[in-house]
Amino acid sequence: MTSTISQKHPRGLYVLFFAEMWERFSFYGMRAILLLFLLDNVRGGMGLEAAEAAAVYGLYTSSVYLLTLPGGWLADNILGQKKAIWYGGIVIMLGHIILAIPGGTSTFFIGLVTVAIGTGLLKANISSIVGELYPEGGARRDAAFSIFYMGINLGSVLGITIVGYLGQKINWHMGFGAAAVGMLLGLVVFHFGSKKYLKGYGEVPPVKISTPESDAKSGSEKKLGYGLVAMLVLFLSALQLKGLIDMTTAQGLAQGAGIIIVTVSLFYFIYILVAGGLTPVEKKRIYVLIVFFLAAAIFWSGFEQAGSSLQIFAERYTQRTFGGWEMPSSWFQNFNGTFILIFAPVMASLWIFLSAKGYNPATPVKFAIALLLVGAGFFIMEMASKIAVTGQLASPLFLTFTYMVHTIGELCLSPVGLSSYTKLAPKRYVSQLMGIWFVAASLGNLIAGLFAGGFDEENLQQMPALFQQVTLFSVGFGVLLLIFWKPVKNWMGGIQ
Ligand code: GLN
Repeated sequence: MTSTISQKHPRGLYVLFFAEMWERFSFYGMRAILLLFLLDNVRGGMGLEAAEAAAVYGLYTSSVYLLTLPGGWLADNILGQKKAIWYGGIVIMLGHIILAIPGGTSTFFIGLVTVAIGTGLLKANISSIVGELYPEGGARRDAAFSIFYMGINLGSVLGITIVGYLGQKINWHMGFGAAAVGMLLGLVVFHFGSKKYLKGYGEVPPVKISTPESDAKSGSEKKLGYGLVAMLVLFLSALQLKGLIDMTTAQGLAQGAGIIIVTVSLFYFIYILVAGGLTPVEKKRIYVLIVFFLAAAIFWSGFEQAGSSLQIFAERYTQRTFGGWEMPSSWFQNFNGTFILIFAPVMASLWIFLSAKGYNPATPVKFAIALLLVGAGFFIMEMASKIAVTGQLASPLFLTFTYMVHTIGELCLSPVGLSSYTKLAPKRYVSQLMGIWFVAASLGNLIAGLFAGGFDEENLQQMPALFQQVTLFSVGFGVLLLIFWKPVKNWMGGIQ
């Protein structure tokens, strides 16, 4: 990226950069205080139990990424990306305004749902226009995505700092209000910038011409869809009746959502393999996307604990008073964005350097490294929690190092994964498969939330074992990928 940053990029990229920066300002800013607000019963928070709060948190962050599927569909079929982003931004801002009203439980949940719907409309579509700006693909598109990723993280750092500070030090609702102001600024940038610099991009799609074949196909797809929904309803009802999950609680609802996400993804992959009319080469590439999907879901389920278990650890068990000043615990979440801003150029140059020598690791190897690093981060947390269990506060260095290795892992997986999905997906399925990439994030976020439910103050002793589970799981899958990277790479059929 360092060598390509000097190349001229279209002005439209910077419109998207700043619009997404402000959207992420509001998203990460609010997310930084969300769990604390749910747990708090002293400063006007919701006062929920740990397990319930973590489940609400997981459900919210997971829906945000899951809703990118209908958001992408709406943009592809009805609105066009630009309108979807504009309306999405307005809905997000309204959601934060609702959250800023100290109006009790239902107001709060309405606000949360509104933000999730708006983000579903905006998030994947804004990345699609970035891709659209570079029809030739190639290295310039990769560079554009790296610049865009910096915008994401700049927004997250600013948001966590300002929203986190206002929410934790002054008043929760003031924090949520600041998130609304951030989104407003994003809308202003997008409104004026897109008029001038994004003409002709992300427009309303052409009306699809229907033929008897396409009608028959969409008819049978609809039937399959209804069948799947009916099966899921039956299965979940059976689980509920047998008392295996209780969907009247937030935790049970989150478990139910997990089952739905896993089943839908599984059926989607089976469907595309069996009925997608794919060539043998395309089929193999779908196998690779399945492997990457699993790896990404496992990675995010560890990584996204930044806002759940790691946030709780920062708040309760980390020494964060420096010279009489107490740092807001939400600020720890800033280490991710800050490390991205530091390491993104370093990693980009590293890949370029290794490529020149012919040693650039294959994508499955980069995914494996990401999994090993997320495991390493949780190994550090296991050490930290062994101190916390004795009743002492752990040094802030533990979380700092954890965030550092997690961020390097993110850089091995997230931008690489985004671009691999656009390259490996058969052309006619690109947007659906992009949606599936975010579904992996959705699943990861859900698991990350559910996991933090085990963080009971009464059961402090189990914390090291909980962290160890995450390490074993991610390292296990990472090692498998390291063993089998060659066949996976061969399935990619020549795509780098
Ligand atoms: N941090 C990135 C973003 O906010 C990636 C999130 C994800 O895909 N889980 O866009």
